[in-house]
Amino acid sequence: MTSSMRIILVGPPGAGKGTQAKRLVERLGIPHISTGDMLRAARAAGTELGVRAGELMDKGQLVPDEVVIGIVEERINQEDAKTGFVLDGFPRTLPQARALDAALLRNSQPLDAVVQIDVDDKVLEHRVTGRRSDKDGNIYHTEFNPPPTGLEVIQRKDDTAEAIKSRLEKYWSETSPIIPFYEKKGIIKKIDGLRQPDEVTYDIIAALS
Ligand code: AMP
Repeated sequence: MTSSMRIILVGPPGAGKGTQAKRLVERLGIPHISTGDMLRAARAAGTELGVRAGELMDKGQLVPDEVVIGIVEERINQEDAKTGFVLDGFPRTLPQARALDAALLRNSQPLDAVVQIDVDDKVLEHRVTGRRSDKDGNIYHTEFNPPPTGLEVIQRKDDTAEAIKSRLEKYWSETSPIIPFYEKKGIIKKIDGLRQPDEVTYDIIAALS
């Protein structure tokens, strides 16, 4: 497998995109570009954009297309992303997918694969409400993968039963239409995300090889 791969991870909240993205970037030596992480960092830094985005994120709403498109265009033009990247959480709407296409075309950097991680809606709420992370961004689950005793972990503000409902709604209404868009390009790889993280990683690597 070459390390110069441009990959998108698509799936509902709690499908395991963040966990799998971390494993892929370690393996491939390319940057992990997560719009959620970038927006949370902007919020923590207290920028105007971050504060406005934070209000929408807490409610499980999407941040406007032009905002995230701007952030991603800037990021993929940075030197370390020239040889590839794993995009996690972007695109989340058809206009975002089209804007990404146009930006990559301008740079002559076609996408290699869109990995679609499928997980039944019924298990997502439990996965998401039990999710915790540490300061390094390692992801745990209170039941399935408990953090080591003594490690300080936090829960995302939008990982609540209430916010997950609206995040799932947004996934089905706004994000899932990007799947046929990439299906037409013949680059979708469907992965069953309802298994152990290691098995899911194995399948993704196999699908990319
Ligand atoms: P994530 O960490 O990917 O689950 O994203 C957390 C939240 O950030 C989402 O629920 C949205 O509010 C916002 N967000 C992240 N990526 C995008 C995007 N591509 N488009 C719109 N909103 C986004």
